[in-house]
Amino acid sequence: MTDPNCLFCKICAGEIPSQKVYEDEHMLAFRDINPQAPVHVLVVPKSHFATLAEMNEEQAELVKECLVRIPHIAASLGLASGYRLIVNQGKDAGQTVFHLHIHLLGGKPLGETIV
Ligand code: AMP
Ligand code: ZN
Repeated sequence: MTDPNCLFCKICAGEIPSQKVYEDEHMLAFRDINPQAPVHVLVVPKSHFATLAEMNEEQAELVKECLVRIPHIAASLGLASGYRLIVNQGKDAGQTVFHLHIHLLGGKPLGETIV
């Protein structure tokens, strides 16, 4: 499933360039354009759905694949001392791109605010 108007669908299709750090048939991981930490990567399942509330079973499998892969991506980025995952859901969370994505943040101590 793709949405021709979706930024992350276009990035997954290679129509918009990105700084890729990992790719397979299930997902793409690329550097956030406005990093909030020394390492800030977005892990994106290659299927268009906006939030977990709209996710079907097949898409849930893709998210599982993302979660299984993230420790390996983190290791490849040198995040041996830890990292934080954030998945914004909707307006109050500040979600701006409505294609589900997992923020992977690290590269410095992130502190204890916002969990
Ligand atoms: P969210 O606010 O959770 O929807 O996160 C969307 C993220 O996408 C933000 O952190 C943006 O900086 C990032 N972003 C927007 N456009 C691009 C782009 N073309 N390439 C990489 N990251 C982007
Ligand atoms: Zn999309």
